[in-house]
Order: sequence, then C-alpha cells, then structure tokens
Amino acid sequence: MSRWVISGLRQGVVTTCYPTRMETAKGTSPGLPARLTPMADEFGQELVDVCPTGAIHFERGEARVDYGRCIHCFRCSRSARYVLEWESGFEWARFASDGSNFVKGAASWPKAFRKSMHIRVVDAGDCGACLNEVKQLNNPYYNMHRLGFFITPTPRKADILLVVGPVNDHTRLPLQAAYDAMPTPKLVMAVGACALSGGVFGPSFVTGTGVKDVLPVDIEVPGSPPPPLAILHGLLVAAGRKPPMPGQDGR
Ligand code: SF4
Repeated sequence: MSRWVISGLRQGVVTTCYPTRMETAKGTSPGLPARLTPMADEFGQELVDVCPTGAIHFERGEARVDYGRCIHCFRCSRSARYVLEWESGFEWARFASDGSNFVKGAASWPKAFRKSMHIRVVDAGDCGACLNEVKQLNNPYYNMHRLGFFITPTPRKADILLVVGPVNDHTRLPLQAAYDAMPTPKLVMAVGACALSGGVFGPSFVTGTGVKDVLPVDIEVPGSPPPPLAILHGLLVAAGRKPPMPGQDGR
C-alpha cells in the first residue's frame, strides 16, 4: 500500500488540465480543416473533388467544410494545389439546428443536475471507433468522473442519451426504446460523423442520415471519431458549463 502511495506522489497528477485550461498536449486531437476559406473557382472545385465524403462545398469564391461529414482524412490539406488550413482544437460540440433546443435557452438543466449527470451510451451500428473514444473518458487521463459525468447501464437513470453510429435498421427500435425509457428532462447527444450525417455508411440501403432521422438531437459532436476531449466538451455544453463551438450555423 505504501509503495502505491509513494509511487503516486512521485508520478504527480496525470489527468488532463481541461476544462480548467485548454489541453495542448500533442496527439490529443486530430484537428479539423478550416471551416471557411476564400479561393479561386478552379481550386475550389478541385477541393470538392478531392473530398471523399462530400464535406466540402464551394460557392461564391468560398470553400465551406461541413463538419458533420468530415472524417479528418487530410486530403484537403495535402492532396490539392490550394490546400485548406488545419485547425488543431477540439471544442467542436454544437447545438443541433433541428433538435429540441432544450439546452439553448437559459431554462436548461436545473442547477442541481449540472454537476452530476448520468449518460446512457447506445451503439447504433458504429464501427467501434467512436465507441472506443467514449470509453477513454473513464481512464485516468480524461477521468470524466471528476467532472460529475457517469455512464449508467440503464436509461431509466440517464439524463443524456449519447449515440454513436449511423443508426442502421437493426438499432432503430432499441434506440427509440432507450429514449422512451429515459425520464425527463433528457437530451440526445449525437457523437461522430456517422451519427450526425450517416458518414461513410449512409444514406444507404441499411442506414439513413444519422440519429436525427429517429430522435430529436440536441448536441452534435463532429469527428470521425471525435477525440475524447471533443466528447467531453459536448458533455460540458450539454450541462451548460461550456459554450458550444462558435459559428456553428455556418455549415
Ligand atoms: S479532411 Fe477529408 S473528409 Fe474532411 S473536408 Fe478534408 S477532404 Fe473532406
């Protein structure tokens, strides 16, 4: 026992400093391309062609990136004549434009809820990547318990329904059942490009265009997969303890 104490004292605190300060350690985020970049028509069209998921739109001399479809493949920053700048942050969570808008107003969660929230995670057909990033939130580095976030196995005790995956035919009904079993107030957080838009899987013969096809989404966390800090930011936005990503409607 004493050896563990001494070892712990030697090691010091290893947990991330986020959200007290921005985390700047290397490797904690893959980043995203700049959302809006002015450029000439010929370069813009080339970027549209190079993007494998249709995330880049070019209009009136501006290349716009839809973060709901971006999978950080880096082609737009490496494989074109006029490449996009790369942003290295991770505070990507935003309010869903067509959700219930529960947390948008001042009348969101009662204060007592904000420091202790329970999360029901549903895998709605994800490839395993987003789910793995969610699992990291429990490790000593991200340690979401220190911020009052806990994963619960039952929807009856959950405040937040966190969904990963594009929602395929086999998961539609179980997802709806989990949502219906949750007490109110409750909100839905879609995590990852597939949950936001269908990503590389949808729309297809077995999936639609993400969680919004089935449930009212409140918070969206882009990325494929989003790093744990982006998901943590989403939870803090859901709890009303952090603002969402600015300029979210500029999709
Ligand atoms: S990183 Fe890849 S998916 Fe994202 S906008 Fe660039 S080319 Fe498209």
